[in-house]
Amino acid sequence: MFTSRLDALARRSLLRRLRTIDSAPGTEVELDGHRVLLFSSNNYLDLAAHPRVTEAAINAIRRYGVGAGASRLVSGSLRPHRELEERLAAFKREEAALVFPTGYQANLGLIPTLAEDRDVLYVDRLCHASLIDACRLCEAPLRVYRHRDHAHLARLLQQGRPPRPALIITDGVFSMDGDLAPLPELCKAAEQAGATLVVDDAHGTGVMGADGRGTVEHYGLEGRAIVQMGTLSKALGGMGGFVAGSRDLIEYLVNRARPFIYTTALPPAMAAAAAAALDVIEAEPERRARLWSLRDLLHEGVRRIGFDTLDSRSPIIPLLVGDADQALALSDQLLAYGVYAPAIRPPTVPAGTSRIRMSVTAGHTPAQIDHVLDVLKTIVASDGRLQESLRGGRLAGAKARGRKARSPSP
Ligand SMILES: *Cc1c(COP(=O)(O)O)cnc(C)c1O
Repeated sequence: MFTSRLDALARRSLLRRLRTIDSAPGTEVELDGHRVLLFSSNNYLDLAAHPRVTEAAINAIRRYGVGAGASRLVSGSLRPHRELEERLAAFKREEAALVFPTGYQANLGLIPTLAEDRDVLYVDRLCHASLIDACRLCEAPLRVYRHRDHAHLARLLQQGRPPRPALIITDGVFSMDGDLAPLPELCKAAEQAGATLVVDDAHGTGVMGADGRGTVEHYGLEGRAIVQMGTLSKALGGMGGFVAGSRDLIEYLVNRARPFIYTTALPPAMAAAAAAALDVIEAEPERRARLWSLRDLLHEGVRRIGFDTLDSRSPIIPLLVGDADQALALSDQLLAYGVYAPAIRPPTVPAGTSRIRMSVTAGHTPAQIDHVLDVLKTIVASDGRLQESLRGGRLAGAKARGRKARSPSP
């Protein structure tokens, strides 16, 4: 039964396979036995193997062991958790923070808790799957507004006129398009409607803003009523998720968020590693500067080759192709040249907007960026079908951005 379902996926170029990496995290890794240049990691600041970060984890393992042993409310709340939460609250300039075992769980805990006394949830059409799943756990109805379209949101808010406050939910940096939510406008719309704005800043934390505090800092919105969620698993290089907000909210989450209450606490070593990563972020701002200059190098280069990169404003750079099979073919060609950047296909992105998703880290070198640009140039020059689909890709990109976009992925 599953064989035929798998066959059906394969026929539509939608079959996904796990690949195995057998080397330290970095930009050159051993993937399924071949050395490749990696352009797909969210390890933006190259902290996953930073000596200070790994050292902190090892020391915490020696002192606390590998597992927390219980949920936080039973006996799993260890000193590294508390210390990290204080650091995260200060980093996000919020009163308090709460750590979850993953970012996914942080969203599953946060959204239903906030939705308890709210009538309607408004989400951006391209919100991360964990936010969509979190909304599905809520009783309140879900309204999807067009991607980054705050005017559309404002109209929906007007129409809905919810008797009780609504929740507005967005990514800070969108994980597949690499573009930014219009937070100033969303914040204003939320304030006018008496709604609460939630920002999932998984890809913004450590990356966006002068000090890497995230998308809220980038827009100068610190101090406004925004609930921030983030992960420890991307720029911070480890594993885990968190919510930062008012002391009341955090205390309420401790009491109500089921993915916090009914699960074993984050391993203490991961908490210690994340705290050390925050130390490095503060001590070495040049890592972020390097990340951005490499990102600009790659972005300008792929645009010159002719790729539509949607509205990327982050180290996530989509190379729009269009159809799933074409995206897959390009990813395979890149791999043949020793470059790994995965094809992203439906249901992760809307049909017709399949793409290669490249991500840059501070660990890349300018020579590696030059190399991948040469490889892309060679592939495009020798592949008429790809050239054609690039032209079509631009159409799909216009469609993805435009008003007549297809039905929402959620
Ligand atoms: C990765 C991601 C998450 C989930 O975080 P994990 O820590 O990997 O579970 C949530 N939201 C967004 C936008 C993400 O990109």
